[in-house]
Amino acid sequence: MKLRTVLLFGAPGSGKGTQGKVLGALPGFYHCSCGEVFRSLKLDTPLGRVFVEYSSRGELVPDGPTIELWRQFIGNCRQGGHYDPANDILVLDGIPRNLAQAELLRDTLDVRAVVYLTCPHPEKLVQRLQRRALKENRLDDANLETIRRRLETYDQESRPVLDFYGRELLHEVDATQTPLDVLEDVVAVIRRITAG
Ligand code: AMP
Repeated sequence: MKLRTVLLFGAPGSGKGTQGKVLGALPGFYHCSCGEVFRSLKLDTPLGRVFVEYSSRGELVPDGPTIELWRQFIGNCRQGGHYDPANDILVLDGIPRNLAQAELLRDTLDVRAVVYLTCPHPEKLVQRLQRRALKENRLDDANLETIRRRLETYDQESRPVLDFYGRELLHEVDATQTPLDVLEDVVAVIRRITAG
């Protein structure tokens, strides 16, 4: 059975995690942030070290270990009873993050909507990431060079994923609004895809 999924999509700093956490708090939804799965790894494990190496440069971790880790994580969530694919909508944040990952997950995910959090002002994203670095002590948002590289990686590797899923699934939401207004728009999209 494929997993009923809503993808939260957008540049680093566009608010995917904030919105995902709110949705994930509701019964019937399960939020999975791939970045958080990576951050939960112990840094002295082989994959933990690979994660630090790539994320501190603002680059993506290679696809093979990423998808394997993600599958393991989702498997554990199912076994632990936290996520029930028969009843829950999976809210994915940060995966798939390039075309190869979208292809690898083609037979696993039944993507019902791609919610694209748009922010046409890169400077706003940079500001948000710098603020978050202070609050959450995140290595990859700590210096400007890494932030710029993260935004470039997004443009070059992640943005093409929008075309993979196509216009029919695409729902744009203005990420420059207040978090509450963004939530209202995200909820409206989810209402539409879950109605009837
Ligand atoms: P995020 O919290 O989503 O910004 O992710 C932080 C970092 O984790 C990224 O810059 C990547 O190095 C790594 N990462 C998260 N998700 C993925 C993914 N799907 N594929 C490869 N690397 C990822």
